[in-house]
Amino acid sequence: MPLASLDWVDRELADLDRKGLRRSLEPLSSAQGAVVEVGGRRLVNLCSNDYLGLAGDARLRRAAAEAALAHGAGAGASRLVAGDLEIHGRLEAALAGLHRAGAALLFNSGYHANAGVPAALVGRDDAVFSDVLNHASIVDGALLSRAELVRYRHLDLDELEGLLRASRARRKLVVTDAVFSMDGDAAPLRPLADLCGRHGAMLYVDEAHAVGVLGPTGAGLAEAEGVKDRVDVEMGTLGKALGAFGAYVAVEARLRDLLVSRARSFVFTTALPPAACGAALQALELVRGEPGRRARLHRLMARMKAGLAARGFDVARVVSPIFPVVLGSEARALAAARALGERGFFVRAIRPPTVPRGTSRLRVALSAGHDEAQVEAFLGALDEALALLPAA
Ligand code: PMP
Repeated sequence: MPLASLDWVDRELADLDRKGLRRSLEPLSSAQGAVVEVGGRRLVNLCSNDYLGLAGDARLRRAAAEAALAHGAGAGASRLVAGDLEIHGRLEAALAGLHRAGAALLFNSGYHANAGVPAALVGRDDAVFSDVLNHASIVDGALLSRAELVRYRHLDLDELEGLLRASRARRKLVVTDAVFSMDGDAAPLRPLADLCGRHGAMLYVDEAHAVGVLGPTGAGLAEAEGVKDRVDVEMGTLGKALGAFGAYVAVEARLRDLLVSRARSFVFTTALPPAACGAALQALELVRGEPGRRARLHRLMARMKAGLAARGFDVARVVSPIFPVVLGSEARALAAARALGERGFFVRAIRPPTVPRGTSRLRVALSAGHDEAQVEAFLGALDEALALLPAA
């Protein structure tokens, strides 16, 4: 007999079902790409973060395989013990180069970076100021830091200024997504940097959805806005536009030194496997060498934006390949995803707690691997799906 019954799990799952909040996995039987195979059908994939279409690129796959052959399948230990492989240092140098930063430090995922870095910067006597729509990993990292967590309304710098002015915290850390993951809009980085300057706050920018996509060289929003030298921590991921896996922060060398000793999600985990690093190194070369991918993505973005705006969706602030098609209830979002699936498009319903209650949506994401005909066909299928939806 088990010591404790798990009957409560059935009740929790039934509760999630009733609220339309139960999540489930949908396995792909193909590689990642603009078209994927799901449930035995080939669907146009409009819900990945593979913005440059690199995850399935033959050159990345080969680079991953070669790195594994040269350096091993696994790193075998944490960086601080025996897992600090030469390829980690090479990748960090390339990332510091992309961001024109003093240094970079790898993390095993964006989640690890955001969960672990804040606690190395702030503690009990300090405060973290966070946009309410920041990614969940930022909220978790702020909570783990034990600093006071102060949330400000989305993009509301007036409110943030008041909160910074009123704060008695020893150190202040302002954290923001560069591109917001479920809304596709961008933080106003230049005025945000000005504000941080006036109040002596550190600025931490999560470029997860901006690296490879924004900026003249694809280095992200801080590059696009010309404020790279005013961001204290630029965090980026390797698993989205770069098509690989892992994450990093680009920082001054002295801050990297501190993180190596203090960031628990760096210290207490096995280092990234060589294959992920090899793929990321190759991706960085393609970001530099094939700017046409970025240009193509931006053309598709313009087309999608115009199409969704014409259908009454609020996409005016979108600057990224992420388009929120907000439908309101969980039931409407689920029904729309299902109807689009039947019409050949893979899009998933995004529901609370990923997005605020009442704003369940489809999060439509483009890739440079798509073409204009696919965007137009999607918009036509969306019209049909919307016509079938229950009332809001
Ligand atoms: N930050 C943001 C803004 C994200 O959207 C995500 C992933 N969805 C992460 C961090 C986490 O990155 P990773 O997937 O590499 O853990």
